[in-house]
Amino acid sequence: IKKPTTNVRATTQQRKRQASNRIPVVTDEEVPVTMIDTEHNATYTKLQYLGEGGFARCYRVRDQDGKVYAAKVVAIASLQQEKYRLKLHGEIITHGLMKHPRIVQFYSCFEDDNNVYLILELCENKTLVEMIKARRNLTEAETRYYIIQLLDACRYMHEQHIVHRDIKLSNVFLDHKMNVKLGDFGLSATLKSAEDRKRTICGTPNYMAPEILFGNHTHNQKVDIWALGVVLRIHNNSRKPTYTFPASIPLSPEAKDLVSKMLVNDPDARLSIFEILQHPFIQHHELPSRIPRSALQGRPVLQ
Ligand code: ADP
Repeated sequence: IKKPTTNVRATTQQRKRQASNRIPVVTDEEVPVTMIDTEHNATYTKLQYLGEGGFARCYRVRDQDGKVYAAKVVAIASLQQEKYRLKLHGEIITHGLMKHPRIVQFYSCFEDDNNVYLILELCENKTLVEMIKARRNLTEAETRYYIIQLLDACRYMHEQHIVHRDIKLSNVFLDHKMNVKLGDFGLSATLKSAEDRKRTICGTPNYMAPEILFGNHTHNQKVDIWALGVVLRIHNNSRKPTYTFPASIPLSPEAKDLVSKMLVNDPDARLSIFEILQHPFIQHHELPSRIPRSALQGRPVLQ
């Protein structure tokens, strides 16, 4: 009997995950064709597979009214350990509180006997990872456009005392208009006050601020600024507190200056959102009015 290809792929992925000690992500067969939210009287039909992370599998889904969403599916079996239950719980609570045009909208959450489902705004154009993979690097004008949108998302989060703690290219989604939607609040934290600090060591190594990696681990919203600095730099391996700009990519002095002031080891000396917005890289150059979809594949003609 010939197995369907999705099945074969899931098996290979499961083997890889076992080898790397990762928690098992739900397989395609374990995600039903119809997902029913009894509380809100909604039914979602599974359409295409969108992707998977360390925790969940995502599908494009359509509700009974024809509206499309992204459904993030987490197997209840993968939540046996308390730390994973707390992670998902934290993600649902924090993401559920967010309402901002630059943040992936969280609509609802429900479960059946096997899985938990998070219904999210669908981001048609994937993430900055796929765009950078296809393009190698973006123009400074595009970077300016995206960093301003990300700062807008951060300002909103930080005003609500939320630290995202996992800003990275793969969590910066692009909607159908090629605008940014920051997603994945799985590692986010709420600060009790402006002075409050968090202690948990978390994040994605290449994007982790030095106060988490090397300091006494206490941190606040400034870790998001560090991660944004890495996003801006779009060049791997910021594990070390020192870094270089790749010679192969010509960068303006303003771009280098801004990155160097965002990647400052001392969080108190690191630029604030307001200061970044005042920086010459943002202020002294033109901002494109929009980014065309062609930018996913190659250098766009910007207006
Ligand atoms: P995890 O919490 O396991 O890391 P993610 O949130 O990263 O899961 O989602 C896994 C993948 O699903 C992403 O890399 C992306 O390809 C896809 N995805 C997640 N959310 C959306 C969305 N809102 N719209 C479109 N695709 C999404």
